[in-house]
Amino acid sequence: MRVILLGAPGSGKGTQAALLADALRIPAISTGDMLREAVDAGTSLGRRVEEIVASGELVDDATMAKVVRTRLDRSDAASGFILDGYPRTLDQARDLEGVLDELDEQLDAAILVEVPIDEVVRRSIARGREDDTEDVVRRRQEVYREQTEPLIGYYRKLGLLRPVDGDQSIEQVHRAVLSALPMESR
Ligand code: AMP
Repeated sequence: MRVILLGAPGSGKGTQAALLADALRIPAISTGDMLREAVDAGTSLGRRVEEIVASGELVDDATMAKVVRTRLDRSDAASGFILDGYPRTLDQARDLEGVLDELDEQLDAAILVEVPIDEVVRRSIARGREDDTEDVVRRRQEVYREQTEPLIGYYRKLGLLRPVDGDQSIEQVHRAVLSALPMESR
């Protein structure tokens, strides 16, 4: 099962990615977590992306393609994965297709966690991550609208889009995500 999770920052897709990973016994891969770990560890990648991540802007597509390719090459991702926070631009979606083509793999679904804008802003501020200042939260929403929302149409055209109502309890959203997956994989 190869799934990507789409949704605004604060939609709860990170939480849902973790629950889904447990349910399907495949890794949840969060590019945001990977970048934050690189920053904390002070690697060369971390030093390069630190300011970008702190500002709410996007790291460039070529860097992200390398990060994701390296991660998907690891053996634990061979039987499936859940991508949380990637792709975030149309070019990243094409890069992902390229990586999967090389591995002779295909996406099974793009789950869209839908939550009203007021609620995502409230949740983003409530989770209180240290990079979640009000300006950065607002900027991330803008970046999502401008750069990531076009992916909704892209995956709809491919017949992979599965919208889920994310404005419910964590457990209810989890059940909705499971029912949105293609039948054979549940
Ligand atoms: P997240 O934890 O998914 O909200 O990601 C935190 C930050 O990491 C984002 O605001 C971006 O600066 C960076 N980031 C994570 N994933 C990507 C991506 N796919 N493309 C570009 N930047 C990313």
